[in-house]
Amino acid sequence: MKVPPPTPSWLAPIELVVVQGTSFCNLNCKYCYLSEETRRNRSRIPLEKISEYFMKILSSQYVQNRLIVNWHSGEPLVLGADYYETVISRIAEIARDTCGPDFQVLHDFQTNGTLINKRWCEFFKQHRDTVTLGVSCDGPQTLHNAYRRDWREGGTFERTLSGIRLLIEHDIRFGLIAVISPRALNHSDEVYDFFNSYREHVSEFRFNLLDDFPDDGELSYAHSEQDYYDFLKTLLNRLEATPAAEQILNIKNFSYFYEQLTAPSESASISPAEFMSQPLRAFNIERNGDISTFYAGVTQDECPNIYGDGKGLVIGNLNVDSLDDIVMSAKLQKIHGDFELSHSTCAKSCPYYSVCPGGYNLIKYKRFGRFDATETPECRIQVKTFTNALIDHINPESASVQNGE
Ligand code: SF4
Repeated sequence: MKVPPPTPSWLAPIELVVVQGTSFCNLNCKYCYLSEETRRNRSRIPLEKISEYFMKILSSQYVQNRLIVNWHSGEPLVLGADYYETVISRIAEIARDTCGPDFQVLHDFQTNGTLINKRWCEFFKQHRDTVTLGVSCDGPQTLHNAYRRDWREGGTFERTLSGIRLLIEHDIRFGLIAVISPRALNHSDEVYDFFNSYREHVSEFRFNLLDDFPDDGELSYAHSEQDYYDFLKTLLNRLEATPAAEQILNIKNFSYFYEQLTAPSESASISPAEFMSQPLRAFNIERNGDISTFYAGVTQDECPNIYGDGKGLVIGNLNVDSLDDIVMSAKLQKIHGDFELSHSTCAKSCPYYSVCPGGYNLIKYKRFGRFDATETPECRIQVKTFTNALIDHINPESASVQNGE
């Protein structure tokens, strides 16, 4: 068993390693946060490098008794099941040798679903005790195909659905992850019906709101806040109307929020925003060995010039730096200071801070060029409108202004 990391105390143990085995993707989704150049690059992390990286991580003082490895930031399935057979057994071997037999390594794949075939189903079945997967699907065909396109601009709904059907045929449970576009907000019942039809096969359903609302009057943020509020209320009402004898769709956004709300106060010594962005908790490895932390899955494509080196939040490279050097780097301390300033500014002025999941530090910087800012249009809709809808649902007596009451 590993001991907790030493000082500085603001470091968290590494819990999640997001590995970009390849940044290549067979699709060209319109909202992808990776650049086109990155997504067309077919290079992969060689197997010997994976072993080297995990040797550095697992033999360090920065892990405790469990690690989740998430394969993401590019389509992981393009590397083929044999690649992961080797990777999983090598990482397990390194974990046994460095951390002892009780150390647990779990793997999670975030896929667009289009490459799932019988071989992949065998793989997922064989590793079902240690491997989970989430499939990205945006709902009914027209909503999905509006953004989830291939390189020839074709829709990908049928290919994603065929992967989902194969998983169901092979009795493999999976998560569903959707991006909800402004247009989808006006189709709340169809969205609910679509995802609810898979409830017996999915471990959870999560959605992210596409923060792509034009301020052009047609769909302004103010309209969108109301649309989002109404969308959430429909989902909540539909869940509530599900007969007790039926399985209820596990909408993770809702269950997580209510868990936070009802958590005992002694567990709230750190806010959700600070917790989620504690340095090291999420540890990202890009295909060239570059390392970043603070947010799961962030890459150097995000705000590349924020610290003047063209590398975004990258704090080192596992090919040339020791983990201790990366952890003690001046840049990591600088980012930590900036994020602390961002959180403390929110804590002083925002009544939603105790439930805000965070993740808005870079958006603040993009919007205002500084970290000591507070409300952005994104947090108004994603945090405040979301919170209002969920609180109003459990406490209709004190329904917010958004409810029009
Ligand atoms: S909702 Fe916005 S302003 Fe409020 S705490 Fe979150 S990031 Fe800060």
